[in-house]
Amino acid sequence: MRSNSFQVLINLFMKFPGIGSRQARRFAYYLLEQDTSVIQQFILALQNLKQEVAQCPDCFRFFARKTSIGERCEICSDTDRDRSLLMIVEKDADLENVRKADVYTGLFFVLGGLVPILDEAPETKVRSRQLKAYLTRLMKEGNLKEIIIAVSANPDGDHTANYLHELCAPFQDTGLKITELGRGLSTGSELEYSDRDTLKSAITNRH
Ligand SMILES: [Zn+2]
Repeated sequence: MRSNSFQVLINLFMKFPGIGSRQARRFAYYLLEQDTSVIQQFILALQNLKQEVAQCPDCFRFFARKTSIGERCEICSDTDRDRSLLMIVEKDADLENVRKADVYTGLFFVLGGLVPILDEAPETKVRSRQLKAYLTRLMKEGNLKEIIIAVSANPDGDHTANYLHELCAPFQDTGLKITELGRGLSTGSELEYSDRDTLKSAITNRH
């Protein structure tokens, strides 16, 4: 296949998380086999995505604009949420799973990734600057009492937790507590896929 668009598509798919060249090629062939109407649906969804979805300036999660009246997402603008707790998660899917389980009532922050162990510039891999700015704002507000580090239980997750402890340390002078999720059994290995009971015990047993 020597089509330019075909190659462009493959290159774009290869940028997706966890997708290699072989899978990218399969996706491109899959699209070739589809009716024009299906392709139109793709084009429309891609065109509208950025207009319909906004990124929250506080927690940095993506949310549908219609679920919030203001600039902030519906979690951050919900006055019933416990503003003494801030849970730092790796990605949007983790946040959504914790939220769905309904076992946590505090605020969130989406870090946007993990810090790989051998990385020399961690601040370029995750939202360090944004987290510091948000913590500064929350401390000024005066309600924040605890930061819960909720990252995956694997080597990169552990490394990220250490990095976050260091990043949050300057804020501890003010009596702020920094905890991590409890890790019993399979707990916390993949926040995105943990069931309600596992999440509940991980949050209850945070330390
Ligand atoms: Zn938000």
